Amino acid sequence: MIATDLRSGVEQLGDMIAEASAIVPFTGAGISTESGIPDFRSPGGLWTRNQPIPFDEFVASQDARDEAWRRRFAMEATFAAAKPTRGHRALASLYKAGKIPGLITQNIDNLHQASGIKADDVIELHGNTTYARCIGCGKRYDLVWVKDHFDHTKRAPDCTRCEEPIKTATISFGQAMPEAEMRMAVELSRQCDLFLAIGSSLVVWPAAGFPLMAKRAGARLVIINNEPTEQDVHADLVIRFDIGEALSPFVGN
Ligand code: NAD
Repeated sequence: MIATDLRSGVEQLGDMIAEASAIVPFTGAGISTESGIPDFRSPGGLWTRNQPIPFDEFVASQDARDEAWRRRFAMEATFAAAKPTRGHRALASLYKAGKIPGLITQNIDNLHQASGIKADDVIELHGNTTYARCIGCGKRYDLVWVKDHFDHTKRAPDCTRCEEPIKTATISFGQAMPEAEMRMAVELSRQCDLFLAIGSSLVVWPAAGFPLMAKRAGARLVIINNEPTEQDVHADLVIRFDIGEALSPFVGN
């Protein structure tokens, strides 16, 4: 059912939250736009400016790796300045109240952890862009180290241990999904009684499969997004309004 106005949507959501014992949020780029980080598919979003670099291209080409890192450093001021939004803070409040056993996110910006949710309880399906890893041995690198190297050599660095390329710790198109995270996301989706899909166009698979998985396992499904999604027809409640406005009533002290 689509909420006809914001107020009735918030009221219905409040009732569902009160009745639920295990809420699993599933978040996309839309929950972070209020912090200044653009999403992918809105007008002016990242997608319209730069087509993503697929994983095989990154592995095969030094030029592609240089370009990937140039783009990442161009975004650094935005990521560094970003603070958790009202949406993040509302979810952190519900987490602290014991309502949320874990949260699934497609986001790579670390803002759920910054809002106070324990890192172990944030299931990152697409990784994290606030640090880097070697794609061969997995050695972790700080972005400051990568930037220093890049500034000196003008080239994307390789691992000091195994000489394979270093990449932000994100999952690119064409890269395998992280197994442990996928397993945990399946468990959370099957065990919750309320699933909240927030700020996702629900077109990136396999991540977009989790709302329906939860619904089929018996959970109520709520979609909060300012544009229609293909999964709205399956939702018990659709709030097609701004996320900050819809979730600010749930921000605790
Ligand atoms: P998407 O860009 O495809 O969809 C975002 C949706 O949120 C859009 O439908 C948009 O209309 C909606 N939206 C934006 N701001 C909103 C607001 N304030 N209120 C209500 N709705 C709002 O994003 P996606 O579904 O997450 O998929 C894109 C992929 O891009 C993900 O895999 C993610 O890893 C990556 N990404 C992440 C970030 C981030 O970490 N912040 C940013 C851009 C892209």
